[in-house]
Amino acid sequence: MEQRSQELFERAKRRIPGGVNSPVRAFQAVGRTPRFIASAHGDRILDVDQNEYIDYVCSWGPGILGHAYPRVIEKVQEACAQGLTFGAPTEKEVVLAELIAELMPSMQVSRLVNSGTEAVMSAIRAARGFTGRDKIIKFKGCYHGHSDGLLVKAGSAALTTSVPDSAGVPADFTKHTLVASYNDTESVKKLFEAYPQEIAAVIVEPVAANMGVVLPAQGFLSFLRDITRQYGALLIFDEVITGFRLGLGGAQAYYDIQPDLTTLGKIVGGGMPIGAYGGRSDIMQMISPVGPVYQAGTLSGNPIATTAGIETLNILKADPQIYTRLAEKSAQIAQAVKAAAGNRVTVNRIGSLMSIFFTKQPVTDYESAVSADTKQYAAFFGYLLDHGIYTAPSQFEAMFLSDAHTAQDLAKTCEVMTQYFRTFKEA
Ligand code: PMP
Repeated sequence: MEQRSQELFERAKRRIPGGVNSPVRAFQAVGRTPRFIASAHGDRILDVDQNEYIDYVCSWGPGILGHAYPRVIEKVQEACAQGLTFGAPTEKEVVLAELIAELMPSMQVSRLVNSGTEAVMSAIRAARGFTGRDKIIKFKGCYHGHSDGLLVKAGSAALTTSVPDSAGVPADFTKHTLVASYNDTESVKKLFEAYPQEIAAVIVEPVAANMGVVLPAQGFLSFLRDITRQYGALLIFDEVITGFRLGLGGAQAYYDIQPDLTTLGKIVGGGMPIGAYGGRSDIMQMISPVGPVYQAGTLSGNPIATTAGIETLNILKADPQIYTRLAEKSAQIAQAVKAAAGNRVTVNRIGSLMSIFFTKQPVTDYESAVSADTKQYAAFFGYLLDHGIYTAPSQFEAMFLSDAHTAQDLAKTCEVMTQYFRTFKEA
């Protein structure tokens, strides 16, 4: 039954573009009606038709503790009673900046913003201001939010042309965005050789999670660390997804690589809208009001959002075993899928980030990711949805787990997935 969701979607489409406030929510890639969510607790979400689902989207990452975690909700409620926003500094902003620096020591100094998009946009401005250079390198298939200069993945033919992916972005705005191939060191070397004095920064998702989950090849991240140093460019890790998910110290601790700047979002706000960027203090001293790089925000460091972030990080910090549990849960699903699907799919997994690609080949970059059969993924997605399991409505997104996923719900998930691959042999 999806009658209320259907009605709301029709109403929404009249007043909101595509009926949604972020495109992937429209279920376009999987040809189904999006579920309008009424509430969520633990590992379950409930839609407006009273359908309950085991949730593997977890709000695209923030929900690492599960939905409506009681201590976080309680602290947020207390904070709300003290006022929603002041536009003046608060103690909580200091506490959160200190926590970030403690858990991710490369982020000596950080600034809070309101989304991952803003964090990345601002980090790149800081890198350009600090180096006095204009160009940046990004990787095909990595997503860094929707700011103009980053909406580029470039055609496969020409590495150095920077064609915007979106209408409304002047080509002039992306002409400084160079595109390399993930896990391909040669593609990066060529760009540095072509523009030795002009590249301000390399920005990378240390584990790519926006073309589905793609792990960095051994040595790839340390190569990026070395080549940026060699050419006087900065290394920016976009840890909006990996931050506090791969471990308390994010991907940079997991792989033991120190970037110059890091961007955060999602978990750092504990479910409220926050982004953060930060890093070496000499670079961050470029930011206004101390330095010449302007960046500001009316609601930045909002007291409710910082409360949710602080509580969430403190809970994670007090229980580092959470990451072992998360990885075990994720591995359980990966193993069940591999056992049932054999070589019909490729499963990429690290910690509690996972993608099931409907392709037989290893997925190591953008080209191999898009070899996946999106029709088969849509069929799989629909089957799961109809059996009470809510996963990403696109082949090219990650599956997220939370600490709230129960043994019983994991077992049910494995059973439904196994059933799918047994029943639909030719899928
Ligand atoms: N960077 C990465 C790696 C992301 O995954 C995302 C969003 N999923 C962003 C940046 C943008 O974050 P936001 O949606 O909060 O603007």
